[in-house]
Amino acid sequence: MKIGDKIPPKTKKFEIDKRLLDLAEKAESGCSLAFGEINRNARINGEKVLNAFVNNRFSSSCLNGTTGYGYDDLGRDTIEKIFAEVFGAEDALVRHTLVSGTHALTVALFGLLKTGDKLVSLTGKPYDTLEEVIGIRGNASGSLRDFGIEYSQVDLLPDGTPDLAEIFRKGRDAKVAYIQRSRGYSHRPALTISMISEIVSAAKNANPDVIVLVDNCYGEFVETTEPCDAGADVAVGSLIKNPGGGIAETGGYITGKKNFIKMIENRLTSPGTGREVGCSLGQNKLIAQGLFLAPEIVAGALRTASFVQEIMTLLGFNVLPKPNTKRGDIVTAIEMPDADSLIHFCKGIQKGSPVDSFVSCEPWDMPGYDAKVIMAAGAFNMGASIELSCDAPIREPYTAYIQGGLTYATGRMGVLVALQEMLNNHCLKTWAL
Ligand SMILES: *Cc1c(COP(=O)(O)O)cnc(C)c1O
Repeated sequence: MKIGDKIPPKTKKFEIDKRLLDLAEKAESGCSLAFGEINRNARINGEKVLNAFVNNRFSSSCLNGTTGYGYDDLGRDTIEKIFAEVFGAEDALVRHTLVSGTHALTVALFGLLKTGDKLVSLTGKPYDTLEEVIGIRGNASGSLRDFGIEYSQVDLLPDGTPDLAEIFRKGRDAKVAYIQRSRGYSHRPALTISMISEIVSAAKNANPDVIVLVDNCYGEFVETTEPCDAGADVAVGSLIKNPGGGIAETGGYITGKKNFIKMIENRLTSPGTGREVGCSLGQNKLIAQGLFLAPEIVAGALRTASFVQEIMTLLGFNVLPKPNTKRGDIVTAIEMPDADSLIHFCKGIQKGSPVDSFVSCEPWDMPGYDAKVIMAAGAFNMGASIELSCDAPIREPYTAYIQGGLTYATGRMGVLVALQEMLNNHCLKTWAL
């Protein structure tokens, strides 16, 4: 090749319809207010996280792992102190051996509840995978019900907000009161921290001894305080969502009051050994670095979410939450008119992902769910939904739940690829363009 020859393009660019690109510009200009708030929260949360690393003297030795029993794992123990501080709690368990959010919630519930105790959900039906844990769907042996733990729930009001009067009534004889912050696969708003604070007050007024446990999945770092700051006793989440910052490879956390964490750590491993055991292998660096990055990564996911809210609204879709309303989590629900639109949108998200972009995702019977589920997650950590991902049970009202996006540039592009896929398959009303 001579100087001056045209260099053949090595890469093919995404082919996005000009009308969609123009609409994207318009959507983005509608995001400026939301972006301002996101930047502010990321700064405050970033400072909080850095402070916790300094206050707890995180050292280079903490980056090393242990094997075997894992006694005296300095990194693990320090990370747990840092999590406790960041989450406004007295204590924390942060373990890669908690295999998912569902597992972390299960360990917490079994640690706190004993035969004859009552569990009450204050925010309606809990997340799908929790139904089998509680024993209200299927008959999995080893459920809470199997161990003689009673369950009841306070349904949400028709507008999807908590029923504070009923919480006061039903919360009276419960040992554990359960709050789910994120929407899960239900069409209701995620709870803000101030709403969680009101629910905690209602539950504690009814029964000062009740243990309030919050499923904090998808909520971490969306605001500048967390459920334990708002009076919750225990808060639980997954490390392949927000607090893992896209870096943690697996794991979960349980934060809360010291005495409750003590009960839970005996269930985590075994009574007596509790938190003293559990080797970290090579996970300390990844978990610590993930938490360090998490406020900024969550901000990327939130910017992507704002873009989704704006552009889908411009295209005539109904989204929840509405653009420029206060958020409680990183999830956006998009009402699709039919299964076809839902499936093409998810396939498009997969096409616009960094990993397995060439794979066509299909609905399947996923363990723990009662309808077929389609999941687009071309993620570096398998199934990580802090990375751009979209999932949906294939059942009416055909709602797509989209979340994540490690960076805004890639999240925004992934969404445009999904819209192009819908356009190519006649799932977009061209009048809207
Ligand atoms: C993700 C999630 C869970 C836990 O799910 P895993 O897939 O087991 O991590 C629980 N509750 C809510 C609201 C969630 O979003």
